[in-house]
Amino acid sequence: MIARGFRYKLEPMPEQEELFRQFAGVCRLVYNLGLEQKVTWGRKHRLGYVAQAADLTRLRAELDWVRAVYVSCQQQALRDLDRAFQNFFSGRASFPKPRRRGLDDSFRFPGREVATKRLNANWSVVRLPKIGWVKFRDSRPICGGVKNVTISLDALGWHVAFACEIEHEAPIPSAEVVGIDRGIATTLALSTGEMLTMPGNLGRIEDQKRKAQRVVARRKRGSNRRRKAQARVARLHARQARIRRDFHHRAALDIAERFGVAVLEDLKTRGMTASAKGTLADPGRNVRQKAGLNQAILNAGWHQFATILTYKMEERGGQVVTVPARFTSQTCAACGVIDARSRESQARFVCISCGHADHADRNAAVNIRRRWSTSLLDVEGLHQRPYEASTGRDLTVSENPRPSGRGRC
Ligand SMILES: [Zn+2]
Repeated sequence: MIARGFRYKLEPMPEQEELFRQFAGVCRLVYNLGLEQKVTWGRKHRLGYVAQAADLTRLRAELDWVRAVYVSCQQQALRDLDRAFQNFFSGRASFPKPRRRGLDDSFRFPGREVATKRLNANWSVVRLPKIGWVKFRDSRPICGGVKNVTISLDALGWHVAFACEIEHEAPIPSAEVVGIDRGIATTLALSTGEMLTMPGNLGRIEDQKRKAQRVVARRKRGSNRRRKAQARVARLHARQARIRRDFHHRAALDIAERFGVAVLEDLKTRGMTASAKGTLADPGRNVRQKAGLNQAILNAGWHQFATILTYKMEERGGQVVTVPARFTSQTCAACGVIDARSRESQARFVCISCGHADHADRNAAVNIRRRWSTSLLDVEGLHQRPYEASTGRDLTVSENPRPSGRGRC
């Protein structure tokens, strides 16, 4: 069994949105009341989920507006609270905090009480008890048995998330191996020569976001107009994140369907070697500072992609392996010579030794793939020297590549 989440944007009618707010508000209240009860009485009487659920029944009998909200959602809130305390007592989390409006606007249904129906290629509907059928943009199919369904609000509006359990038998994986290099911000280079590029509107949204941030800076603190401007920044930010996540899902699926092994470079080593040098042509001022921040953002995106790719590969019986990243961008994929001068620019690689020319990221992807293959030869006891050793420099100590294990990246 694998757990998997599927999240979609909802398009509720105004009266449904009103119900969403009511459900979220009452569930938050039930959670916070339960928390208060535990804090006040929990030490003397062992107040578990069962006792609190019984109190909830009494509360519902007394108050119409509590009874108006579906009971399962309120029970789920109490279950959350119970889990929050379990996590606290086992040292996994800090002491549970009250839920806050604007931050914790969500409620959850057990999966068996919810149904979905497909309308057409782009739209589906989900039936929520006491709320009715709500439309959502169906961007990818749900698979597995639905365990529970969460409705939540963020800067982009209301969303529905299906938490599923997928029963899976690993198919026989493909024998094909692919090396993947993360290129500049928006691309992935494959050792097959393909470049996977993020949707172009990301850049446009980035411009809009910068502009919106400047507007925020101009508005008076605490003013309504400033709040509005901030909401716009948050919306643009959330939209960027969604586009990036969608791209990562599509790219990972494509790779997982075609290859049995995906080779990535190890993030930790990359972080140490590629620190903020700028390009050869433009060493630049302030490069260190700026590159540090950019690198952090890139790393976060890369980590997301690596995580998605790992589970998509493993679902299909494949695997993700990592290799040391050192010199992958300075090594010629054709002749193996390592020279920083071969990296003509951010995008272009021209070998100073043999003249082999390619996109720099594609060249690196081929090196990454090869690094994994040579490491296997090494493990099998053939004691071949790493490919790069042909440069005449002895790199066997520092450059002895070894895959650092399944599913870790
Ligand atoms: Zn060369």
